[in-house]
Amino acid sequence: MKDPFLITKEEILQLYKPVNPTAHKGIQGHAVIIAGSYGKIGAAVLASKAALKSGCGLVTTFAPQCGYTILQTAIPEVMVVTDENPNFITNIKLPFIPQAVAIGPGIGQEQATQKALHTFLKTNIPPLVLDADALNIISKKPSWLDLSPKNTILTPHPKELERLIGKWNSDAEKFQKTIAFSEKYKVIIVMKGAPTFIIHQQKVYQNTTGNAALATAGSGDVLTGIITSLLAQGYESLQAAQLGVFLHGLTADIALPETGYESFIASNIMENLGKAFL
Ligand code: AMP
Ligand code: MG
Repeated sequence: MKDPFLITKEEILQLYKPVNPTAHKGIQGHAVIIAGSYGKIGAAVLASKAALKSGCGLVTTFAPQCGYTILQTAIPEVMVVTDENPNFITNIKLPFIPQAVAIGPGIGQEQATQKALHTFLKTNIPPLVLDADALNIISKKPSWLDLSPKNTILTPHPKELERLIGKWNSDAEKFQKTIAFSEKYKVIIVMKGAPTFIIHQQKVYQNTTGNAALATAGSGDVLTGIITSLLAQGYESLQAAQLGVFLHGLTADIALPETGYESFIASNIMENLGKAFL
C-alpha cells in the first residue's frame, strides 16, 4: 500500500467552514439519528447530543417508544419521533426530509429492525451514515448497500469491519479488502482504530488525533453524531468524515491532562467538542 494521506490540522483548517454570522437554525441543517433499543437508548442519546454539539441547527431522533422520556429528559434540545414498537425499531417514518441521516447505534438486530432498515434504504434518502448494528445487519446482506446513496459513510470498529469484509491475515490484506469493498459499493469506510483510517476511491487517509482514552463505551456513537451533523451542514461526505474523526480524536487529546486515560468517558468527548472546534 502507498503511504496514506495524513489528515493534519492544516488540511482540516482548509476544509472547515466557519458559521455564517447570519445563520439561523433553519439553514444550519437538520440531522436525523435513528438509534436505540430497550437497554441501549444511551447510544441514541450520545449520538444525538453529539450531532447537536457539532453545529447543525436541528436534530430529530427516531427511537422505539421506550426511548421517548429518556431522550426528552436527557436532551431537551432534540426532537423525538417514535416507532410504533415499545422496544425496538420496526418501521422508520419521518414526517420531513432531513439533510443527513445516521442509522445504527444501539438498534439491535431483530428481524423487524432488519426489515425496517431495508425498507428505509429503498426510499430516497439524504446523505447517510451507517454504524454499529446497521453494519452488522448489512454484513449479512451487503447488496443492500446498492440502495444507499453514493458515498454513504460506514464507520466500523475492527470487529464490525471483519464482519463486513471477512478475516484478514495481514495489514496489507485488510486494506486491500477494505478498498475493494468501498469500491464495489461506492461507500466511504471509516476504519476506526488506533489510528483511524478513511478509505475513499482507493485513497487512504490517516487521522493524526486521538488516544487510547477513546477506547470507552459510546465513543463510536458520539463519532456517528459528529459526522452526521457535519453532513447535515453541507460538508461533502469525505470532508465530513475527515473533519469528524479529527475533531473526535482532538477532544481526547485536549481532555487527557485532566481526565487521564482511565476516567475519560464518551460524555467527555462532547464536553470538549467546543474547544476542539475552536
Ligand atoms: P466504537 O468501538 O464504535 O465505540 O468506536 C470507538 C472509537 O474510539 C473509534 O472512533 C476509535 O477510533 C476510537 N478509539 C478506540 N480505541 C482507540 C485508541 N486506542 N486510540 C485512538 N482511538 C481509539
Ligand atoms: Mg460503535
